[in-house]
Amino acid sequence: MNKDIEKILVTTEQLKDLTSRLGKQISKDFQGKTPIFIGLLKGCNPFLSDLLKEVTIPCEVDYMKVSSYVGTESKGSITIINDVTCNVKGRDIIIVDDIVDTGRTTALIKNLFEQRDAKSVTLCCMLDKPEGRVVDIDVKYIGMVVPKAFVVGYGLDFNELYRNLPYIGVLKKELYE
Ligand code: 5GP
Repeated sequence: MNKDIEKILVTTEQLKDLTSRLGKQISKDFQGKTPIFIGLLKGCNPFLSDLLKEVTIPCEVDYMKVSSYVGTESKGSITIINDVTCNVKGRDIIIVDDIVDTGRTTALIKNLFEQRDAKSVTLCCMLDKPEGRVVDIDVKYIGMVVPKAFVVGYGLDFNELYRNLPYIGVLKKELYE
């Protein structure tokens, strides 16, 4: 285990299982449709890559980069850094994010794609921290529920580090307090 990690919350095996489960469920629910998966960079990677391998229906993929966090604190507003290149009008959109905490980011993104006249906007998050929620939001696909702690790994960073860990772990507090 990495020396900066206090404990592992989601193992590599569990990540494999949850991506497989979500991919199968989405394929079933969107049968007969061609959704566009929109990954929120950078945290959606490698979750989205692994999820896509489990999706058996025709689909498109696009990415968007927004900023909502500085260090370990939510700013409460988002800035679009890189927008999608696809036309979402009349399309079924599946937003893929790493973790939902306050719910602000996902709520704002969902709203944005609804304003752009998407046919449907569905949310898929690898992890959920329900204790942090301040905005009521329906995340249809959730990989795993985690307690209120700052987690890193498998795409999740702290100041750009730890995204490469093959598991999700709690970062030692002394590194950011
Ligand atoms: P929300 O808007 O729901 O508060 O936050 C969503 C975004 O905040 C996530 O996409 C992620 O980038 C970041 N975030 C929230 N909780 C954590 C966490 O525990 N660890 C990391 N690395 N990022 C987090």
